[in-house]
Amino acid sequence: MAIKAEHIDKLKEISGPKGYSDDQDIIVSHVEEPRGKYFGITPIVLFPDSTEMVAQIVSYANEHDLKIVPQSGNTGLVGGGVPDRSGDEIVISLKRMNKVRSRDFHNNTITLEAGVILADAHKIAKEMNMQFPMHIASEGSAMIGGNISSNAGGINVLRFGNMRELVLGLEVVLPSGEIWNGLTGLRKDNTGYDLKQLFIGAEGTLGIITAATLKVYPKATQINSAFVAVPSPRAAVELLAVAKQISGDSLIAFELLPRIGLDFTINHMPGCREPLEDRYEWYILMECATSMTQDLLDLEKVMEKILETGMERDAILDGVVPKNIGERDALWNLREHMSEAQKHEGGSIKHDVSVPVSRIAEFIEEGTNAVCKHLPGIRPVPFGHIGDGNIHFNLSQPTDMDKQEYLSKWEEINRLVHEIVVKLGGSISAEHGIGTMKVADLEHFKPETDLNLMRDIKKTLDPNNMMNPGRIIDLT
Ligand SMILES: Cc1cc2nc3c(=O)[nH]c(=O)nc-3n(C[C@H](O)[C@H](O)[C@H](O)COP(=O)(O)OP(=O)(O)OC[C@H]3O[C@@H](n4cnc5c(N)ncnc54)[C@H](O)[C@@H]3O)c2cc1C
Repeated sequence: MAIKAEHIDKLKEISGPKGYSDDQDIIVSHVEEPRGKYFGITPIVLFPDSTEMVAQIVSYANEHDLKIVPQSGNTGLVGGGVPDRSGDEIVISLKRMNKVRSRDFHNNTITLEAGVILADAHKIAKEMNMQFPMHIASEGSAMIGGNISSNAGGINVLRFGNMRELVLGLEVVLPSGEIWNGLTGLRKDNTGYDLKQLFIGAEGTLGIITAATLKVYPKATQINSAFVAVPSPRAAVELLAVAKQISGDSLIAFELLPRIGLDFTINHMPGCREPLEDRYEWYILMECATSMTQDLLDLEKVMEKILETGMERDAILDGVVPKNIGERDALWNLREHMSEAQKHEGGSIKHDVSVPVSRIAEFIEEGTNAVCKHLPGIRPVPFGHIGDGNIHFNLSQPTDMDKQEYLSKWEEINRLVHEIVVKLGGSISAEHGIGTMKVADLEHFKPETDLNLMRDIKKTLDPNNMMNPGRIIDLT
């Protein structure tokens, strides 16, 4: 059923001449996800520039039973931020809501609108001689509202937590159109339920986040990295324990890279080179950082001690320490381009999963054996944030297989891998969310009590099921 012309006209009137587009050449970038796995149709994208305007739009949509898809940078990977193919969903893009509401140096907070790009949030914090410590490869496009709604993670979760740990307060337009002002900068507030937690990671199913108060931290003055070859994922976990013990809380990143992933990156991504003379099966890229000056804490010595102890315990085979920022960036490029490089090797079936850090090696072994038995020739590329238990267990297709035939196995292979994850006490979505991609798996793996609580929350806040319907939990 198409959206009636009178509704489209009214939404245009509320949004003003700069606040909408019905030009399909502009709409196209709002209806397809970066991986191309999900794309939909919509007659109109709205670009409100104030919370009040968002509230008016939502209120009108609620009264007239219109469906809404909130969108920020559209870098999500699970089909949550683009409309479906019915043509009945309206996209609300937050990109024009990109103002700084306030900076509070002594409270260590910034209050930003939802459409501020993550990389700009980094600059805003830097201007205060502080840092906003969430870093993801999509930070040039992803926006604060989307980061919060997906509870984004990234490379520094090990030290600073994911987005949930970085948010102190929120402003949200509820499905009724009412504005909830929870923009507090308090670190202690025990006045009942912590309402903001409902909206963090809700993927736009409970309301539209319009602004947030975020924690910022003193800027790092020393950063030390090392790229080392390790004998196995088991040894990598051993090295992680060593690094944590020695570094105090200065260890900020600890990333696993497999040989096959490095080969793909070096072969396909311009400027990426072999980091060590010899070839090894597994590598770790780790980083320590501190705001303390070198006379108080010499981070170079901390890293030396980690490497020395790692070698003594046979957890390190070889390694390199970058001498300058250019060398450091070159090492990080190998990690950052690992996902992109897989596109050049045909189809890639993805798993964004987590297990307790102590079970990472077991998961990689068991997962690899299971998928190789299921589909001989499949090429596992397990990499990622093992410092916090999050593995991107990506599987490149067999070289002699048709890409579409391989990709048609996405759900069956996901189920196989997710069974192992759940058995090991892990999660089927570590940082990308559920969206539409994992709705069936969530229903399959979450206990009934959890699902019922989630349904009850959704029905209470959004009784008309108008806010991102069908994402996370299907009420139909
Ligand atoms: C190359 C690449 C690398 C990535 N690396 C990482 C990584 O390391 N870690 C990680 O966690 N993710 C990663 N991602 C995934 C993605 O970037 C994150 O999920 C990001 O936080 C999404 O932000 P966004 O602004 O693009 O949100 P969108 O894609 O626009 O939306 C994401 C979800 O949030 C909802 N939403 C958006 N804005 C709002 C709002 N204001 N209010 C309510 N709901 C809203 C949408 O409906 C959707 O369900 C990566 C993606 C790419 C393409």
